[in-house]
Amino acid sequence: MQANDAVPNPLEDLDTILVDEAALKSRLTELGREINATYEGKELAVIAIINGAIIFVADLIRELNLSIQLDCIRVSSYRDETRPMQEPEIIDKIRLDLKDVDVLLIDDILDTGKTLSRVCQIFRKLQPASLRTCVLLDKQTTRSVDFEADFVGFQIPDEFVVGYGLDFAERYRQLPCIGVLKPELQNPPEW
Ligand code: 5GP
Repeated sequence: MQANDAVPNPLEDLDTILVDEAALKSRLTELGREINATYEGKELAVIAIINGAIIFVADLIRELNLSIQLDCIRVSSYRDETRPMQEPEIIDKIRLDLKDVDVLLIDDILDTGKTLSRVCQIFRKLQPASLRTCVLLDKQTTRSVDFEADFVGFQIPDEFVVGYGLDFAERYRQLPCIGVLKPELQNPPEW
């Protein structure tokens, strides 16, 4: 790269920042305290839905002073308009034995509620000792199924957000904050 080449800065693609880095950091510390208090003295299986929860879970588990087993799952999207709408399904095999274990399921964002309610339905069949959910973001106004998370980082308005693990076409996950893309970038024709 030449010295005068412009270095792309994905932060410049944001129209607005909804949650900045400092707010994320302090809320994560609080969330960690809430989770530590709930599971005091217990061993916890933390299951993250990736890719979206990847950065959130990495930071959150470092706030926990509990004995933790960590695993990740992927869930098939029902949002792909090239295929018929279907129930979200777990794509990977869950490697941990969740029977009689306290399980905390982590996702990036709760929107319609379909993803977490379906994954919880599947997990309950594995007979965990307890099953709770934790999301970084909650768009309360967009629910299509009756579902609430046990631990919530932030309530946000009904906007499509990126950053801190959340993507648009697999981009912007590395942003240190949560924001809304500029309108002209929300539907680039080549993506
Ligand atoms: P739900 O099943 O609750 O409608 O949606 C959950 C999933 O939809 C999230 O895990 C995430 O992948 C995706 N999603 C919902 N809203 C947003 C958003 O504003 N931004 C991004 N990047 N993904 C979203």
